[in-house]
Amino acid sequence: MKGRFAPSPSGRMHAGNIYAALVAWLVAHAQGGTIVLRIEDLDQERSKAEYCEAILRDFAWLGLTWDEGPFYQHDRIGDYDEAFHWLSSHDMLYPCFCTRAEIAANAVRAPHFGEKRVYAGTCRKLSSEEVGRLMRLKKPSWRVKVPHEEISFIDGVYGRYTQNLALECGDFLVRRADGASAYQLAVVLDDADEGIDSIVRGVDLLPSTPQQLWLRRLVRPEVDDPQYAHVPLLVSSDGKRLAKRDHDASIDELKTRYKTAAGVIGHIAFAGGLIPNDEPIMPEELRSHFSLLSYSDSISGKIALPWAS
Ligand code: GLU
Repeated sequence: MKGRFAPSPSGRMHAGNIYAALVAWLVAHAQGGTIVLRIEDLDQERSKAEYCEAILRDFAWLGLTWDEGPFYQHDRIGDYDEAFHWLSSHDMLYPCFCTRAEIAANAVRAPHFGEKRVYAGTCRKLSSEEVGRLMRLKKPSWRVKVPHEEISFIDGVYGRYTQNLALECGDFLVRRADGASAYQLAVVLDDADEGIDSIVRGVDLLPSTPQQLWLRRLVRPEVDDPQYAHVPLLVSSDGKRLAKRDHDASIDELKTRYKTAAGVIGHIAFAGGLIPNDEPIMPEELRSHFSLLSYSDSISGKIALPWAS
């Protein structure tokens, strides 16, 4: 069992990503597994070396240890390009010239969930003459053509989750107009190539999972599907979001309030339904009591999909 931390060094850590990392660490370690640390620094404008150093320091301080890495996405650009060219040579891609405003104006709402805006497929319909003309005016981004296919998987926390890619996802970006690989392609290749078989992360990425599974099966058919568990936002028994203040709290605020690493972990573990009382505890001590099954049982009923609220 190999899990991962995949932080983006675009800011300081906060309670939400510490919680996701803690559960990822527990899921891997409860099964005798290991953790890979991957720094998702594709977004060059927002990624900063100082955030990256702070993330490494904070994980170490919190006792959230890793066994491999850090691996940096900026070292993997050749691999992303190779997959991009493979997709292109299989006629799976098309250039997209839409501006952000056009995408938003034309987007179709997913029929069953409000979570996603589906690209209308505007540029998929362009003739080759139009593409040639637009290419001279502007650098396009690139989208992959998704099929009319239902992708379904069992999430370790939510249970079955299904999406029709054409209706509920739409053709999605694999390369940005500045030439950088898009998150969806990079994360799929990294997870597969780093041998990750347990993906634990925030529920905001649950709607991205069907497209990642589909793309992974396409570009890395030899690798099995990983197991997913999406960590919820927490709500109190009256249905209101619990501790929004905590969810948004930066690590510095948490350090000031809870003093020690055990204090911070204990508070997050309590808010996240891992322990009954708000008491200092380290990941190492939590590990012996943890199982994904009892965790998901204990939090069901306290969880809400963020787009449903
Ligand atoms: N880098 C993303 C983040 O920090 C996580 C991506 C993932 O877990 O797939 O939110």
